[in-house]
Amino acid sequence: MNKKITEITILSGKGGTGKTSVTAALASLAKNAVFCDNDVDAADLHLIFNPEIKEEHPFSSGSKAKIDQDSCSSCGLCIDQCRFEAIHPNHDGIPEVNPFQCEGCRLCERICPVDAIQIFTFKKNKWFISDTRFGPLIHARMGAGEENSGRLVTKIRIKAKEIATQTAADYIINDGPPGIGCPVIASVTGTGIVLMVIEPTLSGLHDAKRLLELVETFHIPALALINKFDINIKITSQVEEFLKKYAIPIIGKIPFDTQFIDSMVAGKSIIEYNPESTSSKEFATAWKYIINY
Ligand code: SF4
Ligand code: SF4
Repeated sequence: MNKKITEITILSGKGGTGKTSVTAALASLAKNAVFCDNDVDAADLHLIFNPEIKEEHPFSSGSKAKIDQDSCSSCGLCIDQCRFEAIHPNHDGIPEVNPFQCEGCRLCERICPVDAIQIFTFKKNKWFISDTRFGPLIHARMGAGEENSGRLVTKIRIKAKEIATQTAADYIINDGPPGIGCPVIASVTGTGIVLMVIEPTLSGLHDAKRLLELVETFHIPALALINKFDINIKITSQVEEFLKKYAIPIIGKIPFDTQFIDSMVAGKSIIEYNPESTSSKEFATAWKYIINY
């Protein structure tokens, strides 16, 4: 029988809530874990994890049509037939493909009477398996202008699960992307626990509400950690009321602490940087809650 692996996904409804610092702190406390940086559009976990890349793989994000305008006879067939309305005439009446609308279905390539259309597959995305002092890290880099970050998140999560199974890990810890878009949905689907990191600002509360709505549709248990709770005690109370209403346990309240910046600059988690700090002690309590959950 396969060993049970607990997958914890750390999310915030918005960027800049300190989610990566939280992930790094928990990474210092977790024993026998595999880590996954799901924030593939703006990965930054490597800044603290200092990964040593062991494997590098390309990831195709899809195909797009391209028209060779010198060969095109301007018959207009592709413009009429593209059901995604991805082809439009330019100022000279020659068709051009809008890459954001093109779905790569290849119809235009097949019907063009002068073979002026070719389909290109984009492979600028990469994903990596690395060793770190905390354990294996699966991470990725989206190429400029590439799409389909949700599929890339799914890919690296599958890999993280494989490695966790092979190494008999107890936990997979995912540093999730911000917001509530496609990569967040790809991060939440099938995870064991969502840890929401909430900052006590009006936008932080608003975004946490949207995030919880999303998490609840997947019926995944959620926990919350309030970061920089003392920057606005009034909004912290509102966050606490909101979480109480939805019966979401608050597993920690981390104070505003400039040592987070110092630890980042030093390439360390707060636990490594100052294990005796109030924040480090609060993280230790939070981690205990998670492993006993
Ligand atoms: S590949 Fe399909 S979607 Fe893209 S331009 Fe051609 S017909 Fe349109
Ligand atoms: S079908 Fe081919 S020849 Fe006709 S407009 Fe499109 S690209 Fe040009």
